[in-house]
Amino acid sequence: MSTDVTAAAASTGRMARLTGAARAAFGVALGMALPQLCAACREPVEGEGLCGACWSRLSFIAPPYCARLGIPFPFDPGPGTLSMEAIADPPPYGRARAAVRFDETARTLVHAFKYGDRLDLAPVMGRWMANAGRELTGAADLIVPVPLHWRRQWSRRFNQSALLADVIAKASGLPVSHRALKRRKATAQQVGLARTERAQNVQGAFGVRSRARREVAGRRLVLVDDVLTSGATTEACTRALLRAGAASVDVLVFARVVAPARVPI
Ligand SMILES: [Zn+2]
Repeated sequence: MSTDVTAAAASTGRMARLTGAARAAFGVALGMALPQLCAACREPVEGEGLCGACWSRLSFIAPPYCARLGIPFPFDPGPGTLSMEAIADPPPYGRARAAVRFDETARTLVHAFKYGDRLDLAPVMGRWMANAGRELTGAADLIVPVPLHWRRQWSRRFNQSALLADVIAKASGLPVSHRALKRRKATAQQVGLARTERAQNVQGAFGVRSRARREVAGRRLVLVDDVLTSGATTEACTRALLRAGAASVDVLVFARVVAPARVPI
């Protein structure tokens, strides 16, 4: 390796350790665009968000899957088949779809987006969601993102679900309502809570603003969130929207926890 190449590699390494904001400021100061870094492995990438290796590690969800929950089947049991999970414990929402499985790579990507100053990931993540949810948006009137409590939104400066909802709205041609749902309670973080604790944590946490009732009543909605784990948050939002008279609520998330769906015998 020549000295020039070694120096360049060392400088790329230093570059990689700078945060997104610092890199942007540094780039502006030098009057040049710095190479984008992969959101998962922090290697420089051409183009958007993720390098090829990390992209190929993401586990995109595709049919065959449960018509209701969108969780993949190990084989194709035929169109419209519901999983045992959907039959035994049907959710309040109609259908759920997710772009990818929530695994290590997806978690890294979501964390970079939410907490790591990587808002540049919204367009690519939102487009994957728009593809995964085409069936839902094709039969909907309005997109509604899961809201943050105002205090959390104030400290984070943005609502990740709202950014994704904007991209999906643009891709699908649907309007989006950022004001319909309101988070009344500043709930504790769901991370580390058991399923029943998660449900209690979000009980009564969401409501439809009285001014937005007309927007919601009789409409077919697509509720947008970044991750679906226990489903407690999406279920609480769905119930609030249905109470306000929504005709139907489907759920579209970037990543979801997936255990293999069981096909009814
Ligand atoms: Zn990578």
